[in-house]
Amino acid sequence: MSPSDRTTANLGRHHILPPYMLEHLAENGPEELREAVVTDLSIDRSLRATRVARPVAGFATAEDTEDTSPNRTVYDAHNLRQLPGTEVLREGGEPVSDVAVTEAYDGLGATFAFWWEVFGRNSIDGNGLPLDASVHYSRAYDNAFWDGEQMVFGDGDGQLFNRFTVSVDVIGHELAHGVTGAVRDLEYQGQSGALNESLSDVFGSLVKQYAADPKQTTEQADWLIGEGLLTSSVQGVALRSMKAPGTAYDDPNLGKDPQPATMADYVETTDDNGGVHINSGIPNRAFYLAAAGFGGYAWEKAGQIWFAALSSPDLTTTATFAEFAAATAEQAEELFGAEARTVVEGAWGEVGVEVGGAAPQEPGEGEVSGGVGQTDGETKVVDVTQAEADASAEANQI
Ligand SMILES: [Zn+2]
Repeated sequence: MSPSDRTTANLGRHHILPPYMLEHLAENGPEELREAVVTDLSIDRSLRATRVARPVAGFATAEDTEDTSPNRTVYDAHNLRQLPGTEVLREGGEPVSDVAVTEAYDGLGATFAFWWEVFGRNSIDGNGLPLDASVHYSRAYDNAFWDGEQMVFGDGDGQLFNRFTVSVDVIGHELAHGVTGAVRDLEYQGQSGALNESLSDVFGSLVKQYAADPKQTTEQADWLIGEGLLTSSVQGVALRSMKAPGTAYDDPNLGKDPQPATMADYVETTDDNGGVHINSGIPNRAFYLAAAGFGGYAWEKAGQIWFAALSSPDLTTTATFAEFAAATAEQAEELFGAEARTVVEGAWGEVGVEVGGAAPQEPGEGEVSGGVGQTDGETKVVDVTQAEADASAEANQI
């Protein structure tokens, strides 16, 4: 493959901690943490502003990927912001004593196993994308992110946040942004952005439930995102609760979990890309309710339905909650019959989203970039100029 036609999956750049949480910390947190958080916020903002579609080095072809085992590499960034850092563990290598390295490696493996065993999807892009991660990024860094090419984990400040490799659902969440970007690149703004966030929570939580030993049913799962990430000095249990949005934390340093559970409390805001991490509570709870309605393992019915809805060719990249809800209802019936449609419609109804027919498509919407009409697993070829590639590489070294 020549460099001029490198394949690009639109895998996106996403942080696990939403900006409003860090902003609250910057203003109200312990004195000694404030300055670092302000610096991190400004760097994260500049990273977020950079293009999201990036060339994927060494992109495997379908032929190469007959072998469906993960291809993981973990690097140590040595508390610098230079990525990826030095290689410390490669697929099948000897175990290491650094717990962050082990957790990152295992989390990538759990996520790979989930997508392959449940959906037959070979890695994030459906095409065997190697899974890379860097740990010990920056100093006391309070975040983790997927930069479109790899996972990046901070150590946390130790006062409020533990190391960011600690929650497997956080790893599953970040990598699911890559899946969504490759399957149907839901615009990261307003309701489609909140759906994008919600799908990452859904699949992140399913990765955790699937990886548990023994596997967890809907009833056994905690439905929390980031459980274990907050230290014992924080008044809270996690970053978000899918079962009870708005109840994950209420803490002087971090503020109160702002997620609504129903449309009646939908938050209109221009912050956070129109509240993508806030209003995601609504579709999160709809998923939980659907899963509870079916019972058993959540990936067997609700998870299949949600992923089929995301993959459905009619879903636009600017889908609203109601449009996505309609897609899930349709897929429920197609996959599991009329009773399943009733369960799914009931779940959306309970969070105040009316499942109408498919919403009329606006003219030209079918052409929205991000691959409407793409089939699952396909990637698109984007003409990436050297200048863009350089700018993107540079952004990582700020
Ligand atoms: Zn996210």
